[in-house]
Amino acid sequence: MLGAIEAGGTKFVCAAGNGPDDLAAIRVLTTSPDATIAEVIRHFKRHPVEAVGIGSFGPIDRGRGRITSTPKPGWQNYDIVSRIRAALGVPAGFDTDVNAAALAEARWGAGRGLTDFVYITVGTGIGGGAVVNGAILHGAAHAEMGHMRIPHDRGRDPFPGSCPYHGDCLEGLASGPAVAARWGAAGESVAADHRAWDLEGHYLALAVANLACTLAPQRIIFGGGVMRQLRLLALIRDEVPELLNGYVRVPELVPAQLGDQAGVLGALILAEQARSPFTGSSDSSG
Ligand code: ZN
Repeated sequence: MLGAIEAGGTKFVCAAGNGPDDLAAIRVLTTSPDATIAEVIRHFKRHPVEAVGIGSFGPIDRGRGRITSTPKPGWQNYDIVSRIRAALGVPAGFDTDVNAAALAEARWGAGRGLTDFVYITVGTGIGGGAVVNGAILHGAAHAEMGHMRIPHDRGRDPFPGSCPYHGDCLEGLASGPAVAARWGAAGESVAADHRAWDLEGHYLALAVANLACTLAPQRIIFGGGVMRQLRLLALIRDEVPELLNGYVRVPELVPAQLGDQAGVLGALILAEQARSPFTGSSDSSG
């Protein structure tokens, strides 16, 4: 039995099991770090596991097992991995929530059989995880695709952007809160024919073009609440070929298949890797 923890800004999902068909999950509200982690530990004391995987909101320092510069009160530099590992006495794997979701889509979802793809989630924030040559791309830290800079035509869109660090980065222009702040209505209540979606499709198409040029993915997989507007993917597909203009291969653009389950299933794969660090890799072949 393996343990999976999806550490989110509003809730932690804790699950024990072995895969999508065998996973018992509970939710713990994210409050102070000590109270939240105490409840997580209580759960796994009642449901013992051989190893645990943590897919966390970020930014994180993977090597040190910490959440780093989050604006969430109390969580800055919190050493989440050593606390959980010490309390449970089992190996612990650790990565970002979006990298975990990419791992899960690689094994059980829309990334099956691929060596090179990007998973991107568009919701409260925008994040991405890349699988390159069959393994999650980490670089010196981890990717922050949501904060890439994209062209912003202030004549077409005077909204200054909502990112506290960059203003009009991708997340600042195209996350769910950006849509809500620009149009005065949350994404779910914006009609399908509203021009909000043309603008949203445009920004996401620019992001896709940048990812196609930098990572050459076979496929880009879209998840997150904003993508529930089904017209959006069609708008992105329409614009990307124009942006790339025949110079760069257009990746396949597809919806995620695992929905809300992706993060916790990816954490399960992190647990598996922590249990057997020398046999597994972040392979995408399933
Ligand atoms: Zn930003």
